[in-house]
Amino acid sequence: MREVNVRLITEKVRNLCMEANTDLGEDVLQAFDRAIEKEESPLGVEILKELKENARIAKEEKVPICQDTGFAVIFLEIGQEVHLVGGDLREAIFEGVRQGYRDGYLRNSVCHPFTRANTGDNTPAIIHTDIVPGEKVKIQVAPKGGGSENMSRVVMLTPSDGVDGMKRFVVQRVKESGSNPCPPTIVGVGIGGTFEEAALLAKKSLLRPLGSKNPDPELDRLEAEILQEINRLGIGPQGLGGRTTSLAVHIRMMPCHIASFPLAVNIQCHAQRHKEAVI
Ligand code: SF4
Repeated sequence: MREVNVRLITEKVRNLCMEANTDLGEDVLQAFDRAIEKEESPLGVEILKELKENARIAKEEKVPICQDTGFAVIFLEIGQEVHLVGGDLREAIFEGVRQGYRDGYLRNSVCHPFTRANTGDNTPAIIHTDIVPGEKVKIQVAPKGGGSENMSRVVMLTPSDGVDGMKRFVVQRVKESGSNPCPPTIVGVGIGGTFEEAALLAKKSLLRPLGSKNPDPELDRLEAEILQEINRLGIGPQGLGGRTTSLAVHIRMMPCHIASFPLAVNIQCHAQRHKEAVI
């Protein structure tokens, strides 16, 4: 059994909140470059270049990539040989979020759903925990902006809707979202499981690096087909027209109940922020 003090988790979460909000991943920058090569709209190309420039300034000056610094979504993988000591894990994570948003001058974006009163420190965070073999703790911090999250949906299709019904729903969701999720987007798709698991699959699919292949060849082919249809919609960068409505479609799938066909579409804006650390 390896002991890990939760103080260390607080420290990592603090740093990851600041890093994720100011340093866009290399995979996203490369996806912008590929899109610039393919984009036919001059205005679209200009916007994609602006997005790259925005990311450069954010990294160099340590300022947020976007004013919406997001709801802090935390993915934890805890090795089953790990013994967490030194306090309450959940509170340790919340403290890391508090410190990260305070010290990084990041906007607090969490409020009471009815009164809209801000909680004041960007907590609570959303924590998803997986217990895995081994003696390590992996922490991924993925701040999620409201504009793109609002365009996301979960639907319970019927088994007879099939693959075509799934594709239609995903493309239609992107079409109806228009410019709201700040395109170019990354479209996370969760298929199967249950109502709540489909949403989690969709969100987790967004953690996969842009430009990487889906390990399942059938899903990889479907991702390419759906992306092609989406990029024929003409929404384009920031909704001002062009071919680059989405940079990628990522699918995660698992078996579902014989009577069901759960489907979730989690739309991610171009501020595709996530950073990780392993303890
Ligand atoms: S959707 Fe994304 S890019 Fe647009 S305002 Fe929200 S966080 Fe920023």
